[in-house]
Amino acid sequence: MSKGRLIVFSAPSGCGKGTMLAEILKDSRFRTSISATTRNPRPEDTDGVTYHFISKEEFLKRKEQGLFLESAEYVGNCYGTLLSEVDPYLEKGINVILEIEVNGALEVMKKRPDAISIFVLPPSMKELRRRLEKRGTEEQSVIEERLKKAEWEISHAPKYDYIIVNGPLEEAVSDFFAVVRAEELKAESMGETINEVLQNA
Ligand code: 5GP
Repeated sequence: MSKGRLIVFSAPSGCGKGTMLAEILKDSRFRTSISATTRNPRPEDTDGVTYHFISKEEFLKRKEQGLFLESAEYVGNCYGTLLSEVDPYLEKGINVILEIEVNGALEVMKKRPDAISIFVLPPSMKELRRRLEKRGTEEQSVIEERLKKAEWEISHAPKYDYIIVNGPLEEAVSDFFAVVRAEELKAESMGETINEVLQNA
């Protein structure tokens, strides 16, 4: 059995990354890693499901122990990917998606050059603004801050292996699966298949 793929998946807030992931995760060959964070849970959060919510002290202790694949600070809180959320699943042949911000993504690309990195773009800044305003949960100043942050994040998009524009949902999801399939079919990943073909004489 071949190992699963590590997939780095980043997108600015409001890009519809969550909706895309919900579709992708209907396929049982994929899972998302559950990150550890020091931020406070929101009403929609469940400990151990959306995140592992831990104290700053505990976060630093785990970091010291080398338990994280990557970690980063984002608007004053710490976030990190636990190795225990990644490697055991890759070994079982499951593709593990890391839904992480840009700095952590760059760290993973350095440490795991075989990871597939994907950046999700909104169709336009105008559309991103519309989506953020439609949510109606944030004040105008927060929306402006998110848009500024999105511009900064998008400036790093060329460092990723692939860029998917999240316009119509089905197209974006099908682009995601096309990327993963193309990676699976790379000659360097097909050694086992070549052997099987040759042995079946
Ligand atoms: P939120 O607090 O809104 O759930 O997440 C804030 C940001 O942190 C998002 O961009 C999310 O992708 C990112 N994030 C979540 N978990 C991790 C992680 O383990 N590592 C890094 N580097 N970023 C993360």
